[in-house]
Amino acid sequence: MQIYTKYADLSKAIQEIKTNSKSISLVPTMGNLHAGHLSLIDIAKQQSDITICSIFINPAQFNDQKDFKQYPQTLEFDIEKLKQNNTNILYVPRIQDIYPNGFHKTTHITEKTLTNVLCGKHRPGHFTGVCTVVAILINQTGADKIVLGEKDYQQLLVIKKMIWDLSIQIQVIKAPTIRHENNLALSSRNSHLSLQQLKTASLLNKTLTGIKNSFDKKQEIIKLSEMLKKHKIKLDYLEIRDNKTLKNTINSKTYKNSRLFIAAFIDNIRLIDNIRL
Ligand code: AMP
Repeated sequence: MQIYTKYADLSKAIQEIKTNSKSISLVPTMGNLHAGHLSLIDIAKQQSDITICSIFINPAQFNDQKDFKQYPQTLEFDIEKLKQNNTNILYVPRIQDIYPNGFHKTTHITEKTLTNVLCGKHRPGHFTGVCTVVAILINQTGADKIVLGEKDYQQLLVIKKMIWDLSIQIQVIKAPTIRHENNLALSSRNSHLSLQQLKTASLLNKTLTGIKNSFDKKQEIIKLSEMLKKHKIKLDYLEIRDNKTLKNTINSKTYKNSRLFIAAFIDNIRLIDNIRL
């Protein structure tokens, strides 16, 4: 596996790959890699000749600086996992490779129709940070395909929309959510959870499946929100929305094209999950 920490060095490697007419899949991550990330790498390997994983903890997408400072960093372990998974290239850019003039002097990309709800509403500026960094990573890596997880479903839709709006020449491949044995969605933030908190966190997916299987979903949302409160889980949102437009579909007759989204804090750890209805 080749590791590049400078855009100038990556760029030379990309030129050679392109000269040899090889296709590239990009898996952008923030590191602290787990089986969810590795499943994306596996998909990428099947899709293209060369798989690039990027690890960049993007300060611009954190609305809470404490959250940014505490984000788990495990580069040595990540490198080992990627080597074992036969990743071709790891790109770990320095901040100046992504934002040479600082984020605030960089051109920002703001998606306009999907970002005023869910995480977009609760984390102001988050998706502008995400879109901007993903566009830069796509351009720097020259990727033909990008693999993104359904775990961050709103992010997946927002990036797809950005790619469409800006005519970026790249194909989006979506990947299913990989879960812990207690059905908790794997997340880098799970490494902050104690054993007790891990147990509590499993209530998030139980809530989603409880609502999915209920007859009166409105009533069940109220009931299960109360249950979460009793377990000291602070809800950011628990909402049913259209799986393409993210419009609220709580009052629709069938939930055929809907997804159920949750974001909640266990103490100060924010977790998200979603399932198809
Ligand atoms: P992150 O490092 O959290 O920014 O995530 C990098 C990519 O991995 C994103 O496309 C996520 O949606 C995806 N991802 C994160 N957790 C999971 C999971 N449990 N299953 C599948 N994909 C995931």
